[in-house]
Amino acid sequence: MMRILLTNDDGIYAKGIEVLAAHLRTIAQVTVVAPDHERSAAGHAITLWDPLRVSTVDRNGAFFGYAVDGTPADCVKIAIQRLLKPKPDLVVSGVNLGPNTGTNIIYSGTVSAALEGAVLGIPSMAISLATFRQPRFAVAARVARTLCLQLRQLRLPPEVVLNVNVPNRPLTQLKGVRVTCQSRSRWLETFDQRRDPRGRAYYWLKGGRRQRDPAPDSDEQAVRRGYVSVTPISIDLTSHKHLDALQGLQSKGSAL
Ligand code: MN
Repeated sequence: MMRILLTNDDGIYAKGIEVLAAHLRTIAQVTVVAPDHERSAAGHAITLWDPLRVSTVDRNGAFFGYAVDGTPADCVKIAIQRLLKPKPDLVVSGVNLGPNTGTNIIYSGTVSAALEGAVLGIPSMAISLATFRQPRFAVAARVARTLCLQLRQLRLPPEVVLNVNVPNRPLTQLKGVRVTCQSRSRWLETFDQRRDPRGRAYYWLKGGRRQRDPAPDSDEQAVRRGYVSVTPISIDLTSHKHLDALQGLQSKGSAL
C-alpha cells in the first residue's frame, strides 16, 4: 500500500485536512503531521532558534496525527527525519481553505510544505480549494485522491511539485483538469493604521481585491472557468529562459 505524509498550513484541527485524511486512507497508509495552529502565509520558513515539540492529536475519539509547534516546512522535515520510517511515497499538503494561485503562492505555507517534500526528494502535491466560504472539501479531497493515484505513474523528477487548485462546486459541475501556468495575479493589499492605548500608531495588513492576470492558460483563469488547475512548480528558482540574456555579464576575474 502507498504511504502518504499529509500536512497543511491551516493547522491539524482544520476541516480540510480531516476530510482529505479520510479520503486518502481509502488508498494509502496516511500519517498526518501538521502545525498545532494555523500557519497560513508562513511561506517556507523553518524554526532555528526554538525547539520543536510534537504531540499526538485525537479527532472524533480516535488517533488522528501529530501536531508540531512549528511551520508547515518544519512539519515535513521532522516527519521525514524522525516520525516516518521508511520515507513516505508521497507528500500531500491541504486541503487549504482558499486558492493558492498566482504570485500568492510565494507566501503559501500549503505550497511550501509540498516544496519541502521536493527538497527531500519525495513526489509532492499541494491542494487548495478556491473559496473562503461554504467550502466543499469533499470535492477537493476526491480530486486529490484521483491525482495521487495518477502521480505515481507520471514519474516526474522529484524537484517538481504539483500545485492543484479546485473550484468550489459540486463534483458533477467540474469541467475537468487543465495543466496551467502560474499567473501574476495577486492580492492588492493595504495597511490599516490604528492607534494603541498609548497613542502610538500600529499597522495591520488587509487583503484587498485581487489583481487578475487575464492569461487564458493561467491557474486562476482555469479555476474561474470551472476546471481543476494543475500547475507544475519547482524548487529550482533559476529563470532558465533568461540565462542567454545574461551571457554578456560573464567575464574573467581580471575584468572586475
Ligand atoms: Mn492556509
